[in-house]
Amino acid sequence: MFYTFFRLVLYSHGGFEMEKKSILTREQIEEITKTYPTPFYIYDEAGIRANARRLREAFAWDPGFKEFFAVKATPNPFLLKILREEGCGTDCSSMTELMLSEALGFGEGEIMFSSNDTPPEEFVKARQVHAIINLDDLTHVECLAETAGVPEMVCCRFNPGGDFSISNSIMDHPGDAKYGMTREQMKEAFLKLSALGAKRFGIHSFLASNTVTNEYYPTLARLLFELAAELAEETGVKIAFINLSGGVGIPYRPEQEGNDIAVIGEGVRRAYEEVLVPAGMGDVAIYTELGRFMLAPYGQLVTRAIHEKHIYKEYIGVDACAVNLMRPAMYGAYHHITVPGKEGLPCDHVYDVTGSLCENNDKFAIDRALPEIAMGDYIVIHDAGAHGYAMGYNYNGKLKCAELLLREDGSVQMIRRAETPRDYFATFDFCDILKDMNYEG
Ligand SMILES: *Cc1c(COP(=O)(O)O)cnc(C)c1O
Repeated sequence: MFYTFFRLVLYSHGGFEMEKKSILTREQIEEITKTYPTPFYIYDEAGIRANARRLREAFAWDPGFKEFFAVKATPNPFLLKILREEGCGTDCSSMTELMLSEALGFGEGEIMFSSNDTPPEEFVKARQVHAIINLDDLTHVECLAETAGVPEMVCCRFNPGGDFSISNSIMDHPGDAKYGMTREQMKEAFLKLSALGAKRFGIHSFLASNTVTNEYYPTLARLLFELAAELAEETGVKIAFINLSGGVGIPYRPEQEGNDIAVIGEGVRRAYEEVLVPAGMGDVAIYTELGRFMLAPYGQLVTRAIHEKHIYKEYIGVDACAVNLMRPAMYGAYHHITVPGKEGLPCDHVYDVTGSLCENNDKFAIDRALPEIAMGDYIVIHDAGAHGYAMGYNYNGKLKCAELLLREDGSVQMIRRAETPRDYFATFDFCDILKDMNYEG
């Protein structure tokens, strides 16, 4: 409802249509499929690097600024290495993400551990890899103290409750979210942690996801800066950093206007000058834990039309399914679709683009206007570089596809191989029920 209105308004003003381009041309895909069959993910190294540099530039006013890439969005070591070269650390929320960061050489000051409902052994691992621990709950203070000990620098996650609004429009409902501590608990946690030896503190909060407004970070920053000044005054602790977490979104729809990271950085700077500097806290570092913003636009799922079906609606069946990209099935999320080689043609056909799962929500698009699709056409599903491959699963015994990287020099590198039946059956390797299985099918 809202969306339709939004669209009409935009179009009545002449329209804002951002063309979404396929990372690869049809010819490139044809060449690549001689080695790597569809479906596969393709990531764009040049795009990833340029975007990471824009982020760093936007916060260059803060010498302590650091982005801790949210590993859960795209946990691929090759991509994490590129981000590290661009100055990013990692934000982890599980044992394996900590292990991955450690294996890649992320060290002290380069790993954030923002978990919730945290298994105690993960606190131990986090301390072992010198991660900055971000506590989700007051009860975690004791758990941390008992299992891993309290480090000198520690962070606490804040949940202000109620609704979170930006200029009178409600963005989200923190009061319904499981994360973070109340205002009173933040104070108590700081005092307890101080007594247990912590010397420097961080404050973290994540109040809205996939925001497409330049006001999200500045609004959140002001709220956290004010809290930081109050808590410093009330408890006497030293605040070392404010962690704005993730939530800066991307325009999944071509008619949406994207965020301008330079404007966002400037908005945070203004709040910093107005709140922290007068409080004598002009040395506080700004941290971010972006996932989607860092990678979503720079990864695409490339698939192929393998069936067409004409019943009560028109269907195009592709060789990828929700196992490869779950967001449309899970959230009804929009992912733009283009057909390489048919970019100039009118979108005068309306299709549901489906995968092969025995689930009727396995549709990458519903009632989507596209050019006429022929069997064998490649279909590119855009903005899948974050929370795409990573959410994959193995329902229906479907196997996960490969991830490829388009390097800056134009070459293509496999950065994760496709799963094989052997991977799917690997968790039965403790017994001999399947010992005579022919893995080649
Ligand atoms: C998921 C998550 C992020 C990243 O969120 P994006 O929306 O991808 O930017 C950052 N921090 C935490 C704690 C998260 O859970």
